Amino acid sequence: AKTDRANRCTQFSMDLRERMEEKIALEKDLLRALDRGEFVMFYQPRLCVQTGRILSAEALLRWQHPERGLLGPSLFIQACEEMGLIIDVGEWVYRTVARQQRELGEAGIDISLSINLSPRQFSDPELIEKILRLPEETGCAAKRLGFEITESVLLGDSEAIRTALRRMKAKGFEIIIDDFGTGYSNLAYLQKYPIGVLKIDQTFIKNIRTSEPITRLILSLGNVLNVRVVAEGVETREQLDWLVENGCDEYQGYYFSRPLPLAEFVELYRTQQRL
Ligand code: C2E
Ligand code: CA
Ligand code: CA
Ligand code: CA
Repeated sequence: AKTDRANRCTQFSMDLRERMEEKIALEKDLLRALDRGEFVMFYQPRLCVQTGRILSAEALLRWQHPERGLLGPSLFIQACEEMGLIIDVGEWVYRTVARQQRELGEAGIDISLSINLSPRQFSDPELIEKILRLPEETGCAAKRLGFEITESVLLGDSEAIRTALRRMKAKGFEIIIDDFGTGYSNLAYLQKYPIGVLKIDQTFIKNIRTSEPITRLILSLGNVLNVRVVAEGVETREQLDWLVENGCDEYQGYYFSRPLPLAEFVELYRTQQRL
């Protein structure tokens, strides 16, 4: 029994050690990824539920890793946050998306792009100033950029966040609440912040039948507060039909398109315009 336990211990520490080594390798890789220009933005269209037209796109980060191929954020965002690297990566993201918005505008593609901000990015004391400078620095149209934040950022109910969001809104940027309905939903904050869009969390859309009461509630909340409601994670015709029937404003999801590299997104947009 004693050697058994000893063996299990060695096994355990080997796993632990392997995992730590993997993590250290990942962190080293991430530090170089920014310098080497390995990050890319993909775009997933957001469409009008009624007309099916593309109105905007969500910018989603990808890492073109030299050996491991194209990686999604679930494989590296958390490490970025733990390392504090999310501040720099996040800055690369909003500057890149702002520049690409300007390029789209110049190409006659008049749609909005939205940028994800993780809560950790708000610990950057310069975040808001950097965002407010984007139009001057990149030539983007503030009216064509939105920022997606999660409820946890608003929960603190801090005066600083409120002021920050009001200044962003005054500049023309749109504020979007991501993953709405998960966790803490405190309805009081919805009136305190200048919110333009609510994104219903994917989990409600996934089980649209069982989630009906909640999803309906979010839709009427959007109506009362005069905030557009977006459904994400729409994968089937049935889900889209439900959204049409129940008056949801916009949707995104694999049913219409996965996130695409910019050039492919532009091609898709142009094809739709020609129809
Ligand atoms: P999110 O903001 O909730 O993004 C939606 C996620 O759902 C994306 O995953 C998207 O690819 C995926 N998705 C879209 N349509 C469907 C669908 O029909 N079915 C399913 N099953 N999934 C769908 P992705 O790109 O892997 O991003 C995961 C999360 O990583 C994002 O969740 C966001 O929190 C974070 N993230 C992504 N890009 C950035 C970024 O540039 N900055 C920051 N700070 N976070 C990011
Ligand atoms: Ca999002
Ligand atoms: Ca979401
Ligand atoms: Ca509405």
